[in-house]
Amino acid sequence: MPGTVCRVATLATVNDVTRVAVIGAAGRMGSEACRAVESADGLELVASVARGDELGDLAGADVAVELTVPDSSPGNVAHCVERGIHVVVGTTGWDDARLEALRSQLADRPDVGVLIAPNFAIGAILMMRFAEQAARFYESVEVIELHHPDKVDAPSGTAARTARLIGAARTDAGLGAVPDATTHDPGGARGARVDGIPVHAVRLRGLVAHQEVLFGGVGEMLTIRHDSFDRASFMPGVIEGVRKVREHPGLTVGLEHYLGLGA
Ligand code: NAD
Repeated sequence: MPGTVCRVATLATVNDVTRVAVIGAAGRMGSEACRAVESADGLELVASVARGDELGDLAGADVAVELTVPDSSPGNVAHCVERGIHVVVGTTGWDDARLEALRSQLADRPDVGVLIAPNFAIGAILMMRFAEQAARFYESVEVIELHHPDKVDAPSGTAARTARLIGAARTDAGLGAVPDATTHDPGGARGARVDGIPVHAVRLRGLVAHQEVLFGGVGEMLTIRHDSFDRASFMPGVIEGVRKVREHPGLTVGLEHYLGLGA
């Protein structure tokens, strides 16, 4: 019901139960996250918040899962941090300026943990790690992300992060710009550039979330590909984030840091 937080459960909290609120509960990811929280051991769904609902104290949640839209996400996260609620964020659009603002807010709340997870799928995290490792060996690289056509932002957070990781690895290895003789591209056919890496976005009915990283060297190509066929693929990562966010006060960007796969 708009205007109030939907209180899903008001049972007394047992010490070892983590109370979880899902913000964006009416969305595709949010509704899947509500189901995942409800069926996870040791987690209790205490609030499911849709657009127009007041956040309030999120029915006493310990952890909020934030799965909305880029314009709403920073305000929702700030609201939670202010109230000492840990947050697991899957919404994309967290650029450097937004991350910096969040970091300064968290400096005043050193007990609170926020995880910004551009991708919850374990396979996607491995894809990023493998791409980062391969980057220094190849002269050419391009990232192609493919999603359903209802996605509002491009490129995807995963593609942008992959490109940044590759860009940093190339810089560390002393590699220059990717070779590209294009001088005439009025329609932007060569894609966007993220840290110098060309990134292409495909929007196609029937897809969920997919990405390829193409590495080219003389006489060879390496393709690293990950496919999420169903939003269920994100849920083990969401649940892992909810379980671990309290152990990681401050800002963490990337679920890999909770999985022993961080740099
Ligand atoms: P969606 O459009 O289906 O759902 C978003 C929901 O958020 C909508 O119901 C909308 O009404 C609601 N909303 C907007 N502002 C709100 C607010 N202030 N309070 C409460 N609800 C609000 O989108 P989706 O497919 O569920 O994706 C949600 C976000 O998660 C997007 O940013 C998407 O890119 C991202 N995403 C992340 C991952 C990941 O692994 N990190 C995976 C898939 C999608």
